[in-house]
Amino acid sequence: MTKVVFFTDVKRLHEALALFPLKRYKEKKVPVKLHMGEKRNPYFVKPELVKLVVDELKKVSADPFLFDTTVAYRGSRHTKKDYLKLANLHGFTMKNVGCHVVIDDSGVPTVIEGRTFDVADHLKEATHIFALSHVKGHVQSGMGGAIKNFGMGGVTKETKIKIHDGSSPVYQKDACTYCGVCAEVCPFHVIKVTKDSWEYNEQGCFGCGVCVDACKNKALRNQDADIQFLLACSTKACVQDKNVLYLNELKRIAKGCDCDPNAGPIICPDIGYLVSDDPVAIDKASLDLINEVKENVFLKINKVDPLKQIKFGEEIGLGSSSYQLIML
Ligand code: SF4
Ligand code: SF4
Repeated sequence: MTKVVFFTDVKRLHEALALFPLKRYKEKKVPVKLHMGEKRNPYFVKPELVKLVVDELKKVSADPFLFDTTVAYRGSRHTKKDYLKLANLHGFTMKNVGCHVVIDDSGVPTVIEGRTFDVADHLKEATHIFALSHVKGHVQSGMGGAIKNFGMGGVTKETKIKIHDGSSPVYQKDACTYCGVCAEVCPFHVIKVTKDSWEYNEQGCFGCGVCVDACKNKALRNQDADIQFLLACSTKACVQDKNVLYLNELKRIAKGCDCDPNAGPIICPDIGYLVSDDPVAIDKASLDLINEVKENVFLKINKVDPLKQIKFGEEIGLGSSSYQLIML
């Protein structure tokens, strides 16, 4: 069964990593994949934790660098230049973390489940990766953890847009009974139903798929597929056939993502850290631990079931949702 190691004191990171074959990272160039935070977001992974990871990698003579990709929307991470500036502002400097930062804006097409995902150049090249993911809520996928870190964060802008567009709803008038359920459940209130009309504001849609799941008459379907399925596929495109170690930080667990300057309140007390070599297992363990403290908090607050990404991940062979939790 997949091993997931849980600890609350970050000083035990070395002990946790020692339970995995970190020595394989010797003399490898290792992208440390993380989200360095949108401007004004206070919750992203902090340089102090990143430095501990970098130090552990250096202890086994690996050559780590911090890594992320540009984003599709206009803002402080839209271009490589702007993202590097923001990374510096957020404290991800050579002085603070002991390695440099690389941001990619282009990628290599990789086919998974019949779809093409452009995996960022440095991830595609890497044989060994370290994933550092801050676990928090997310408007589209309920929760963001290891799967979200790669699924959206490991690919190019063009692929990010394709994933967003692919999960938006397509309406089939013939099957619609104008029951209004989709409008009631849409977390963003972009659907309007009257007794004989159905309207939807595409610009305001976040592609969460809640309306598609809620329509029992099959009058709605995703443009391509559920966003959580596409995220799981995209993650597989980034990590398949590579050595990847995952560290999930379950702290500052907010309603929204690190890409949101208004990520909302903290919705769950701090829990600790998890390490695994399986992205599905570590996200399932993260969700289970959070649910123990605040039952179904992401589902209740974001109205999107985060378990879907875990189930889809397992279905496509990304990893296993069965795990053995080792407490340090
Ligand atoms: S839930 Fe389905 S059937 Fe009901 S209004 Fe929405 S699209 Fe039409
Ligand atoms: S996909 Fe989500 S945001 Fe878009 S219309 Fe449906 S419920 Fe609303």
